[in-house]
Amino acid sequence: MRELLRKNIANLTPYSCARNDFTGKAEVYLDANENWQDFVEKADANRYPDPLSVAVRKKVEEVLGLPFSKTVLGNGSDELIDNLLRCFCEPGKDSILLMPPTYGAYKVFADINDVGVSTVPLTPSFGIDFPALSEFLQREKENRGGEGRLKLLFICSPNNPSGNAFPLDEVRQVCELFDGITVVDEAYYDFSEKESAVKLLDSYPNLVVLRTLSKCWALASARVGIAVADEEMVSVFRSMKYPYNLGTPSQELALKALGNAAEVEKGLCLIKDERLRLEEKLKTLACVRTVFPSDANFFLVRVSDALSIYHYLAGMGIIVRNRSKELHCENCLRVTIGSRKENDRLLAALAAYKER
Ligand SMILES: *Cc1c(COP(=O)(O)O)cnc(C)c1O
Repeated sequence: MRELLRKNIANLTPYSCARNDFTGKAEVYLDANENWQDFVEKADANRYPDPLSVAVRKKVEEVLGLPFSKTVLGNGSDELIDNLLRCFCEPGKDSILLMPPTYGAYKVFADINDVGVSTVPLTPSFGIDFPALSEFLQREKENRGGEGRLKLLFICSPNNPSGNAFPLDEVRQVCELFDGITVVDEAYYDFSEKESAVKLLDSYPNLVVLRTLSKCWALASARVGIAVADEEMVSVFRSMKYPYNLGTPSQELALKALGNAAEVEKGLCLIKDERLRLEEKLKTLACVRTVFPSDANFFLVRVSDALSIYHYLAGMGIIVRNRSKELHCENCLRVTIGSRKENDRLLAALAAYKER
């Protein structure tokens, strides 16, 4: 891991904020140039937040089983993805590997950081193309020696937009093949029956697993992402992140949601029930060609004419995502599983759609 880091990050002296210098309990805090007056009653809004999100990470360990010493929180997993790029990839030299179709943010953040993007596409049925992947990685290894190299490989599982999760054994195979940092984005993990890559952390110190409270935990507004990795790796993330990346309101919302795990579990069951029902009903519709199996809270659906149906639905006040331009996604819409009522509205609208 150390060898893969950018030199400036490996040699970094982290910003030392007041809340890092003194972590005990005191009565008078005159160390951070805060305003002693709190104009938002009882919100602690006048005080800087805990830079290490200790309370939330303890709760994350208790509720999600992710070890306290191996987690770092981000302002959404989006921040963690960006931080990975900034830790490991030398702008203008290094590159990352994506397996499209996949989450769009990886490429955008790579572009912003001037980091190259290579691709080994998934198969048309959205599986990992292992022959192509091992050939690509072999060739990359042989061609090393110049400036820069392949640093990160992103696996999104369950994958957005296709909805399928990869078996743990395939994730393990990727870790075996790749000698850089393998990042497994498990944003939709809660909806899946497949095993988490967290199980592989002890065997692969170059593995990073990303989780988020944005989806199953219904906290998209709070922006709470979780990176789980080897202690040495998370200590690097902690040293380079914005010190106060998670505000106190976000940390408090996270604590509340995680403290409400029983309700969230019930909500998850509702979504899984709807997933079954929606899949069956979608398959009976005239305009639907394929409903791809989903381990997530959305479906990728191949329809007769995605653009026309997208506009038709929008005209009826129903917004879905047209993914037709993504690789292997011709005429595909991505549909989030909503409430029963919302799903019924979608189904009724699609049933009434007339082909032109
Ligand atoms: C929604 C999503 C996320 C979540 O991002 P946050 O910044 O945590 O809200 C991450 N990865 C994928 C693949 C997603 O679809």
